[in-house]
Amino acid sequence: MAEMTTTIYDLTVIGAGPGGYEAALEAAKLGLRTALIEKDSLGGTCLNRGCIPTKTLLHSSELYKEICDAERFGISAEHVQADLNNIQQHKQTTIATLQKGIAALLKAAKVTMYQGLGTVIDTGTDDSNKDHMKQVQITADGADPVIIQTRQILLASGSVPSVPPIPGHDLPGVMTSDELLSWDQEPFSSLLIIGGGVIGVEFAGIWQALGTKITILEALPSLIANMDKELGQSLKQSLKKKGADIHTGAMVQSLESTQDGILCTYTEKDTVCTCTAQAVLIATGRKPYTDGLFADGLAPSMERGRILTDEHFQTSLPGIYAIGDVNGKLQLAHAATAQGLHAVHQIAAALSEDTANRAVPHRNSPVLDLVPSCIYASPEIASVGLTLDQAKEQGLVAKSHKILSSANGKSVLSLQERGFMKVVYLEETHVIIGAQLLCARATDMISEFAVAIAQKLTLEEMASVIRPHPSFSEMITQVTTL
Ligand code: NAD
Repeated sequence: MAEMTTTIYDLTVIGAGPGGYEAALEAAKLGLRTALIEKDSLGGTCLNRGCIPTKTLLHSSELYKEICDAERFGISAEHVQADLNNIQQHKQTTIATLQKGIAALLKAAKVTMYQGLGTVIDTGTDDSNKDHMKQVQITADGADPVIIQTRQILLASGSVPSVPPIPGHDLPGVMTSDELLSWDQEPFSSLLIIGGGVIGVEFAGIWQALGTKITILEALPSLIANMDKELGQSLKQSLKKKGADIHTGAMVQSLESTQDGILCTYTEKDTVCTCTAQAVLIATGRKPYTDGLFADGLAPSMERGRILTDEHFQTSLPGIYAIGDVNGKLQLAHAATAQGLHAVHQIAAALSEDTANRAVPHRNSPVLDLVPSCIYASPEIASVGLTLDQAKEQGLVAKSHKILSSANGKSVLSLQERGFMKVVYLEETHVIIGAQLLCARATDMISEFAVAIAQKLTLEEMASVIRPHPSFSEMITQVTTL
């Protein structure tokens, strides 16, 4: 028998990933009585099965590789071992530490946490009574369902790996990133990665550094195909130089278990080819997660699994918003957070119209159309704004300026791989409209370009700032000096 709580929340957030928990914190800061529902662990995909665990494994595997190669810096190290069990423990400790931090923030902000599956059972939109509340049922194992009443709802239920129906996709040893992230036994001798997008190339980097032979099969003509062409080409060269076998334009047909491992049959330029690996990672994209999110007949408008929203992330149902991976706009943690903050400000403003004496504090909404994309490969890749091709497609008269990292002191002394930095600007005014980086610390330095583009800075304005020497960021001065 479901029990109804007496509290009426202003906002109920479903999903405690970086979209949902940040939105709940902001809502509480704005004075909204806020509930946050999570069926698994705090932090969502990003903290439990995505950004943080992959970057923790990458950090360990790169450190291992660096120690193995330490002779290059005049240091000798013997008996260096990468113990995956211990590396996984470090990953778990990292996750637990961050979870504790988030829990403390939520507690301090007085956000009420509910553990269980949240289902919208009343959208509160079927009559003209303004006091008709929306209702969300929370179902958890071993407990009676609880029903909470709420004025508005924010859906932030994220996404799950999408596995194409390749024959053999369910064989033992064929994994998605969820399973491979928890692998704590001996490193594989060989790993086949199906999909050369962000997840594919990031996992390639982790396992390559641990000594695993990598093969990537990508259906499109290039790796990371939605980014600047030169980034994909340089990444391919770098992975190949370290021993990876990379096939683009490759269509996977089937996977089979054999004595030698998992046999993959694929076609490349109309030729049937095969390769064998000890394990297979399927990294062919993620799909919005909406299981159990709505009672029958209550779902808002959806398209191919994603919840459709307007520019303020409101769904087709008034007062119900959807942010992050579940709306399928941009599958990035920082985009989910920005969307959540934007939606919460809309919600707070809407509620303040309904509720007397409630002022919405001013805070600039995030610049939603300027989202940096980062790939944690070696070297790192980052891009923001337009590529030169995109600028030309939009009819802009633009140019680009590129520099190599080979003259940067910090890159040379730390024996970084050859990288580059490219800035795209309007020819007449020199206003910066895009940047593409492939170099050490690219994922940190891209923010300087995000600020420049948001503030419409010119090359000359960017170059006029004194940057420390020696530093990787000196490349920014170099690339913005024609
Ligand atoms: P993706 O869409 O980036 O890449 C999937 C790739 O698989 C595509 O290039 C596609 O052409 C290819 N593909 C699909 N079916 C195939 C098949 N049958 N055979 C061969 N290739 C096939 O998806 P992803 O890499 O799985 O990542 C999922 C999402 O998670 C992305 O939106 C990504 O932005 C996000 N993510 C971001 C980061 C980051 O920001 N650093 C890290 C991990 C994931």
